[in-house]
Amino acid sequence: MINIAIDGPSGAGKSTVARALAKKLRFVYVDTGAMYRAIGLFVRRHGVSPDDAEAVCAQLPEIEIRLSYSEDGEQLVFLCGEDVSRAIRENEISMYASVVSRIPEVRSFLLQMQRDLAEKNNVIMDGRDIGTVILPHAQLKIFMTASAEARARRRTRELLEKGQDVDYETILAEINERDEADRTRAVAPAVPAQDAVLMDNSAMSVEENVAAIEALMRDRGLLL
Ligand code: C5P
Repeated sequence: MINIAIDGPSGAGKSTVARALAKKLRFVYVDTGAMYRAIGLFVRRHGVSPDDAEAVCAQLPEIEIRLSYSEDGEQLVFLCGEDVSRAIRENEISMYASVVSRIPEVRSFLLQMQRDLAEKNNVIMDGRDIGTVILPHAQLKIFMTASAEARARRRTRELLEKGQDVDYETILAEINERDEADRTRAVAPAVPAQDAVLMDNSAMSVEENVAAIEALMRDRGLLL
């Protein structure tokens, strides 16, 4: 199986690029952030504070996450049988996801599910620790970044398009806070794997970015 890992901070365009590339190559796109978001949503709905590790862990046996794919390859996320694909995108859930993702038991809860998907499918998997922890043997690892301003601009546009009431300055502050937390946490910090290719896409279009990854795949004999 071909495994491509794409890591990087929020708003770096990982999911847009990974989704487009997966569609083109007929690979399975796995958005691991969505799984952390589903756990964040679950604990929020159950009135559990995301930084109460013990209480969050006590909920884990109740949490059942399943991914499925629509005909056009869109990833759908089911939480205990309910389609939460939209609900997990609420801006508030971003911070819940980031806070629960610091808990080692939460990470190991999702690890096997992520590895299983990569074992059974050609995948493009995006997240924070895919190249470092989940798929250390991925044939290609990319660490995607963009300036904080470019990332906040994209994120704001994306949320406004979904009808959420957000403003650029708040999103910029939140992105910086969440990335700092993700980068400096003790478990699986969001840092590039040693063998990752660093890609700054501040000035790239989605098409250019997809083409740049395809070129790397060709170099490695992963594409004709
Ligand atoms: O990518 P997305 O913004 O949806 O991820 C939400 C949060 O989930 C991130 O801020 C990060 O804390 C966490 N996450 C993680 N490891 C991953 C994917 C996401 O810790 N592989």
